[in-house]
Amino acid sequence: MSPWVLRGLRNGVVTTRWPARPDPYASGWRGPATVLDPAAGEGADGLEGLCPTGAISTQPDGAGPDGAERDGTQPDGAERDGAERDGAERDGAERDGAERADRGRVRLDQGKCILCGRCVGARPDVFGWSTGPGAAALTRGGLVVPEIPGTAENLAAIRDGLRARTAALQRSVHLRHVDAGSDGAEEQEIYALLGPVYDVHRLGIFFTASPRHADVLLVTGAGARGMIAPLRRTFDGMPDPKIVIAVGTDAVSGGLVSPSYATTGGVSDTVGVDVWLPGSPPSPFSILHALLLALGRLPTVQQTAVQQTAVRQAAERQTAERRTQRRDQGEGQ
Ligand code: SF4
Repeated sequence: MSPWVLRGLRNGVVTTRWPARPDPYASGWRGPATVLDPAAGEGADGLEGLCPTGAISTQPDGAGPDGAERDGTQPDGAERDGAERDGAERDGAERDGAERADRGRVRLDQGKCILCGRCVGARPDVFGWSTGPGAAALTRGGLVVPEIPGTAENLAAIRDGLRARTAALQRSVHLRHVDAGSDGAEEQEIYALLGPVYDVHRLGIFFTASPRHADVLLVTGAGARGMIAPLRRTFDGMPDPKIVIAVGTDAVSGGLVSPSYATTGGVSDTVGVDVWLPGSPPSPFSILHALLLALGRLPTVQQTAVQQTAVRQAAERQTAERRTQRRDQGEGQ
Protein backbone atom coordinates (compact mmCIF):
# COMPACT_ATOMS: atom_id res chain seq x y z
CA MET A 1 0.00 0.00 0.00
CA SER A 2 1.34 3.42 -0.84
CA PRO A 3 2.77 5.26 2.18
CA TRP A 4 0.80 8.26 0.98
CA VAL A 5 -2.49 6.46 1.68
CA LEU A 6 -1.42 5.77 5.26
CA ARG A 7 -0.13 9.32 5.62
CA GLY A 8 -3.42 10.73 4.31
CA LEU A 9 -5.46 8.55 6.68
CA ARG A 10 -3.29 9.53 9.62
CA ASN A 11 -2.93 13.26 9.01
CA GLY A 12 -6.02 14.10 7.02
CA VAL A 13 -4.02 16.72 5.08
CA VAL A 14 -2.53 15.48 1.84
CA THR A 15 -1.35 18.36 -0.33
CA THR A 16 2.17 19.53 0.36
CA ARG A 17 2.77 23.29 0.56
CA TRP A 18 6.42 22.89 -0.38
CA PRO A 19 8.34 25.04 -1.33
CA ALA A 20 6.21 27.86 0.13
CA ARG A 21 6.25 26.02 3.47
CA PRO A 22 8.65 23.44 4.83
CA ASP A 23 7.74 19.79 4.49
CA PRO A 24 9.68 17.31 6.65
CA TYR A 25 8.83 14.57 4.17
CA ALA A 26 10.56 16.52 1.37
CA SER A 27 13.72 16.79 3.42
CA GLY A 28 13.69 13.09 4.26
CA TRP A 29 13.89 11.84 0.65
CA ARG A 30 17.10 10.03 -0.18
CA GLY A 31 18.99 11.49 -3.12
CA PRO A 32 22.08 10.30 -5.02
CA ALA A 33 25.21 9.23 -3.14
CA THR A 34 27.60 11.95 -2.07
CA VAL A 35 31.17 12.23 -0.78
CA LEU A 36 31.32 12.81 2.97
CA ASP A 37 35.07 13.19 3.18
CA PRO A 38 37.03 13.51 -0.09
CA ALA A 39 40.35 13.06 1.71
CA ALA A 40 39.28 9.90 3.56
CA GLY A 41 39.70 7.82 0.43
CA GLU A 42 43.20 9.06 -0.35
CA GLY A 43 45.56 6.25 -1.11
CA ALA A 44 42.78 3.67 -0.91
CA ASP A 45 42.67 1.26 -3.84
CA GLY A 46 39.52 -0.01 -5.45
CA LEU A 47 37.18 2.91 -4.76
CA GLU A 48 36.52 3.44 -8.48
CA GLY A 49 35.75 -0.26 -8.91
CA LEU A 50 32.94 -0.02 -6.37
CA CYS A 51 30.63 1.81 -8.72
CA PRO A 52 28.90 -0.10 -11.55
CA THR A 53 28.35 3.09 -13.54
CA GLY A 54 31.78 4.66 -13.10
CA ALA A 55 30.47 7.58 -11.04
CA ILE A 56 33.42 7.52 -8.66
CA SER A 57 36.84 8.82 -9.63
CA THR A 58 39.96 9.33 -7.58
CA GLN A 59 42.05 11.08 -10.17
CA PRO A 60 40.21 14.05 -11.62
CA ASP A 61 41.44 14.78 -15.08
CA GLY A 62 40.50 17.77 -17.21
CA ALA A 63 36.93 18.76 -16.37
CA GLY A 64 36.23 16.01 -13.84
CA PRO A 65 34.27 12.80 -14.47
CA ASP A 66 33.76 12.42 -18.20
CA GLY A 67 30.04 13.13 -18.19
CA ALA A 68 30.73 16.66 -16.99
CA GLU A 69 32.85 17.36 -20.05
CA ARG A 70 29.80 17.05 -22.30
CA ASP A 71 28.61 20.48 -21.14
CA GLY A 72 30.32 22.00 -24.13
CA THR A 73 29.24 19.56 -26.82
CA GLN A 74 25.49 19.86 -26.89
CA PRO A 75 23.47 20.83 -29.93
CA ASP A 76 21.18 23.87 -29.59
CA GLY A 77 21.62 24.08 -25.84
CA ALA A 78 25.28 24.66 -26.48
CA GLU A 79 24.44 27.38 -28.99
CA ARG A 80 22.01 28.99 -26.59
CA ASP A 81 24.56 28.84 -23.81
CA GLY A 82 27.52 29.98 -25.89
CA ALA A 83 28.30 32.99 -23.72
CA GLU A 84 28.28 30.94 -20.55
CA ARG A 85 30.50 28.29 -22.09
CA ASP A 86 33.03 30.93 -23.13
CA GLY A 87 33.19 31.93 -19.49
CA ALA A 88 33.76 28.33 -18.52
CA GLU A 89 36.60 28.01 -21.05
CA ARG A 90 38.24 31.17 -19.74
CA ASP A 91 38.30 29.61 -16.31
CA GLY A 92 39.60 26.31 -17.65
CA ALA A 93 43.29 26.94 -17.04
CA GLU A 94 42.71 27.96 -13.41
CA ARG A 95 40.45 24.98 -12.89
CA ASP A 96 43.03 22.59 -14.32
CA GLY A 97 45.62 23.94 -11.91
CA ALA A 98 43.31 23.53 -8.94
CA GLU A 99 42.44 20.00 -10.03
CA ARG A 100 46.06 19.00 -10.27
CA ALA A 101 46.36 20.02 -6.60
CA ASP A 102 43.20 18.01 -5.95
CA ARG A 103 44.53 14.86 -7.62
CA GLY A 104 44.05 11.70 -5.62
CA ARG A 105 40.95 12.92 -3.79
CA VAL A 106 37.62 11.22 -4.32
CA ARG A 107 34.99 12.73 -6.62
CA LEU A 108 31.53 11.42 -7.32
CA ASP A 109 29.42 12.27 -10.36
CA GLN A 110 25.83 12.23 -9.11
CA GLY A 111 24.70 12.35 -12.74
CA LYS A 112 25.80 8.71 -13.01
CA CYS A 113 24.53 7.49 -9.63
CA ILE A 114 21.77 4.89 -9.78
CA LEU A 115 21.49 4.71 -5.96
CA CYS A 116 22.62 1.09 -5.80
CA GLY A 117 24.27 1.70 -2.42
CA ARG A 118 27.47 -0.26 -3.02
CA CYS A 119 29.78 2.65 -2.21
CA VAL A 120 27.84 3.65 0.92
CA GLY A 121 27.80 0.05 2.15
CA ALA A 122 31.50 -0.58 1.48
CA ARG A 123 32.95 2.75 2.63
CA PRO A 124 30.54 4.59 4.94
CA ASP A 125 33.47 6.74 6.09
CA VAL A 126 33.84 8.20 2.57
CA PHE A 127 30.35 8.03 1.03
CA GLY A 128 26.83 8.76 2.26
CA TRP A 129 23.40 9.66 0.92
CA SER A 130 22.34 13.17 0.03
CA THR A 131 18.92 14.10 1.34
CA GLY A 132 16.22 16.56 0.39
CA PRO A 133 14.82 17.62 -2.95
CA GLY A 134 17.65 19.90 -4.12
CA ALA A 135 19.37 17.45 -6.48
CA ALA A 136 19.05 19.36 -9.76
CA ALA A 137 21.84 21.48 -11.26
CA LEU A 138 22.06 24.05 -14.05
CA THR A 139 25.27 22.54 -15.43
CA ARG A 140 26.40 18.97 -15.92
CA GLY A 141 29.55 19.76 -13.94
CA GLY A 142 27.36 20.99 -11.09
CA LEU A 143 26.44 17.37 -10.32
CA VAL A 144 30.00 16.49 -9.37
CA VAL A 145 30.83 16.41 -5.64
CA PRO A 146 32.94 17.89 -4.26
CA GLU A 147 32.39 20.78 -6.64
CA ILE A 148 34.84 21.22 -9.52
CA PRO A 149 36.73 24.50 -8.97
CA GLY A 150 35.24 27.23 -11.15
CA THR A 151 31.70 25.81 -11.19
CA ALA A 152 30.29 28.33 -8.71
CA GLU A 153 31.74 31.26 -10.66
CA ASN A 154 29.98 30.24 -13.88
CA LEU A 155 26.72 29.39 -12.20
CA ALA A 156 25.57 32.96 -11.64
CA ALA A 157 25.97 33.81 -15.36
CA ILE A 158 24.10 30.67 -16.39
CA ARG A 159 21.29 31.34 -13.92
CA ASP A 160 20.96 34.94 -15.16
CA GLY A 161 20.83 33.75 -18.77
CA LEU A 162 18.13 31.21 -17.96
CA ARG A 163 16.12 33.76 -15.99
CA ALA A 164 16.23 36.17 -18.94
CA ARG A 165 14.95 33.41 -21.26
CA THR A 166 12.16 32.33 -18.94
CA ALA A 167 11.03 35.79 -17.83
CA ALA A 168 7.86 35.42 -19.91
CA LEU A 169 6.88 32.14 -18.21
CA GLN A 170 5.89 33.45 -14.83
CA ARG A 171 2.24 32.55 -14.30
CA SER A 172 1.32 29.51 -16.34
CA VAL A 173 3.73 26.90 -17.66
CA HIS A 174 3.00 23.87 -19.81
CA LEU A 175 5.10 20.71 -19.82
CA ARG A 176 5.57 18.13 -22.53
CA HIS A 177 7.05 14.80 -21.50
CA VAL A 178 9.00 12.52 -23.84
CA ASP A 179 10.12 9.02 -22.87
CA ALA A 180 13.42 8.43 -24.65
CA GLY A 181 14.00 4.86 -23.53
CA SER A 182 13.00 4.94 -19.87
CA ASP A 183 12.35 1.90 -17.66
CA GLY A 184 9.14 3.58 -16.46
CA ALA A 185 10.35 4.57 -12.99
CA GLU A 186 10.68 8.28 -13.75
CA GLU A 187 7.24 8.29 -15.34
CA GLN A 188 5.66 7.08 -12.09
CA GLU A 189 7.22 10.01 -10.23
CA ILE A 190 6.19 12.51 -12.92
CA TYR A 191 2.60 11.25 -12.84
CA ALA A 192 2.61 11.65 -9.05
CA LEU A 193 2.94 15.40 -9.61
CA LEU A 194 -0.65 15.41 -10.83
CA GLY A 195 -2.01 13.68 -7.72
CA PRO A 196 -3.45 15.41 -4.65
CA VAL A 197 -0.21 15.19 -2.68
CA TYR A 198 1.98 17.30 -4.96
CA ASP A 199 -0.78 18.91 -7.05
CA VAL A 200 1.51 20.70 -9.48
CA HIS A 201 -1.46 22.72 -10.75
CA ARG A 202 -1.33 24.79 -7.56
CA LEU A 203 1.92 26.25 -8.95
CA GLY A 204 0.41 27.08 -12.34
CA ILE A 205 2.17 24.13 -13.99
CA PHE A 206 0.21 21.92 -16.41
CA PHE A 207 0.92 19.06 -18.80
CA THR A 208 0.10 19.34 -22.48
CA ALA A 209 0.02 16.77 -25.25
CA SER A 210 1.13 19.21 -27.94
CA PRO A 211 4.71 20.46 -28.31
CA ARG A 212 3.23 23.62 -29.88
CA HIS A 213 1.74 24.53 -26.49
CA ALA A 214 4.70 23.46 -24.38
CA ASP A 215 7.23 25.66 -22.59
CA VAL A 216 9.20 22.93 -20.84
CA LEU A 217 10.33 19.56 -22.20
CA LEU A 218 10.77 16.82 -19.60
CA VAL A 219 12.90 14.04 -21.07
CA THR A 220 13.35 10.66 -19.39
CA GLY A 221 15.26 7.57 -20.49
CA ALA A 222 18.79 6.75 -21.54
CA GLY A 223 18.45 8.28 -25.02
CA ALA A 224 17.25 5.37 -27.14
CA ARG A 225 18.54 5.71 -30.69
CA GLY A 226 15.05 5.02 -32.01
CA MET A 227 13.79 8.07 -30.15
CA ILE A 228 16.36 10.52 -31.54
CA ALA A 229 14.13 11.70 -34.39
CA PRO A 230 10.86 11.93 -32.38
CA LEU A 231 12.62 13.76 -29.56
CA ARG A 232 14.23 16.14 -31.99
CA ARG A 233 10.88 16.77 -33.74
CA THR A 234 9.20 17.51 -30.40
CA PHE A 235 11.95 19.91 -29.43
CA ASP A 236 11.84 21.67 -32.81
CA GLY A 237 8.04 21.94 -32.57
CA MET A 238 8.13 23.87 -29.31
CA PRO A 239 8.00 27.66 -29.44
CA ASP A 240 10.72 29.81 -27.86
CA PRO A 241 11.53 30.27 -25.07
CA LYS A 242 11.79 26.58 -24.28
CA ILE A 243 13.52 24.73 -21.49
CA VAL A 244 14.75 21.14 -21.44
CA ILE A 245 15.02 19.16 -18.21
CA ALA A 246 16.79 15.79 -18.21
CA VAL A 247 14.84 13.82 -15.59
CA GLY A 248 16.71 10.97 -13.91
CA THR A 249 20.18 9.49 -14.04
CA ASP A 250 19.41 7.65 -17.28
CA ALA A 251 18.52 10.89 -19.05
CA VAL A 252 21.54 12.69 -17.59
CA SER A 253 24.22 10.12 -18.38
CA GLY A 254 22.65 6.95 -19.72
CA GLY A 255 22.97 5.18 -16.38
CA LEU A 256 23.91 1.50 -16.41
CA VAL A 257 23.24 0.77 -20.05
CA SER A 258 24.97 3.54 -21.93
CA PRO A 259 26.44 4.23 -24.29
CA SER A 260 25.51 1.18 -26.29
CA TYR A 261 24.29 0.08 -29.71
CA ALA A 262 20.76 1.02 -28.57
CA THR A 263 21.31 4.19 -26.53
CA THR A 264 23.23 7.41 -26.93
CA GLY A 265 24.36 7.85 -23.34
CA GLY A 266 21.86 10.42 -22.11
CA VAL A 267 19.56 12.83 -23.89
CA SER A 268 22.03 15.73 -24.16
CA ASP A 269 23.42 14.14 -27.33
CA THR A 270 20.06 14.86 -28.98
CA VAL A 271 18.74 18.06 -27.36
CA GLY A 272 20.42 20.79 -25.34
CA VAL A 273 19.73 20.35 -21.63
CA ASP A 274 19.14 23.33 -19.34
CA VAL A 275 18.52 21.55 -16.03
CA TRP A 276 20.09 18.23 -15.01
CA LEU A 277 18.22 16.14 -12.47
CA PRO A 278 19.89 12.93 -11.25
CA GLY A 279 18.14 10.16 -9.32
CA SER A 280 17.01 6.68 -10.15
CA PRO A 281 14.26 7.73 -10.11
CA PRO A 282 14.23 11.29 -8.73
CA SER A 283 11.48 11.97 -6.19
CA PRO A 284 8.49 14.13 -7.18
CA PHE A 285 9.90 16.77 -4.82
CA SER A 286 13.15 16.73 -6.81
CA ILE A 287 11.24 17.10 -10.09
CA LEU A 288 9.38 20.07 -8.59
CA HIS A 289 12.73 21.49 -7.50
CA ALA A 290 14.12 21.14 -11.03
CA LEU A 291 11.04 22.83 -12.52
CA LEU A 292 11.16 25.73 -10.09
CA LEU A 293 14.93 26.04 -10.57
CA ALA A 294 14.41 26.28 -14.32
CA LEU A 295 11.69 28.90 -13.90
CA GLY A 296 13.65 30.95 -11.37
CA ARG A 297 10.91 30.47 -8.79
CA LEU A 298 12.83 28.88 -5.94
CA PRO A 299 12.84 30.79 -2.65
CA THR A 300 15.96 32.83 -1.90
CA VAL A 301 18.89 31.33 -0.04
CA GLN A 302 17.84 33.16 3.13
CA GLN A 303 14.30 31.80 2.95
CA THR A 304 15.68 28.33 2.27
CA ALA A 305 17.88 28.50 5.38
CA VAL A 306 14.86 29.51 7.47
CA GLN A 307 12.87 26.64 5.95
CA GLN A 308 15.63 24.15 6.67
CA THR A 309 15.72 25.26 10.29
CA ALA A 310 11.93 24.91 10.53
CA VAL A 311 12.08 21.47 8.93
CA ARG A 312 14.78 20.33 11.32
CA GLN A 313 12.81 21.60 14.29
CA ALA A 314 9.64 19.87 13.05
CA ALA A 315 11.55 16.61 12.55
CA GLU A 316 13.05 16.88 16.04
CA ARG A 317 9.59 17.55 17.47
CA GLN A 318 8.19 14.49 15.70
CA THR A 319 11.06 12.32 16.93
CA ALA A 320 10.53 13.52 20.50
CA GLU A 321 6.79 12.85 20.25
CA ARG A 322 7.39 9.33 18.91
CA ARG A 323 9.90 8.68 21.68
CA THR A 324 7.40 9.85 24.30
CA GLN A 325 4.67 7.70 22.76
CA ARG A 326 6.91 4.63 22.79
CA ARG A 327 7.90 5.28 26.42
CA ASP A 328 4.25 5.74 27.44
CA GLN A 329 3.31 2.52 25.66
CA GLY A 330 6.16 0.68 27.39
CA GLU A 331 5.06 1.92 30.81
CA GLY A 332 1.44 0.97 30.08
CA GLN A 333 2.35 -2.68 29.47
S1 SF4 B 1 25.32 4.43 -4.94
FE1 SF4 B 1 25.99 2.92 -6.51
S2 SF4 B 1 25.79 4.03 -8.46
FE2 SF4 B 1 25.75 5.58 -6.83
S3 SF4 B 1 27.89 6.25 -6.67
FE3 SF4 B 1 27.56 4.62 -5.13
S4 SF4 B 1 28.22 2.73 -6.18
FE4 SF4 B 1 27.91 4.31 -7.77
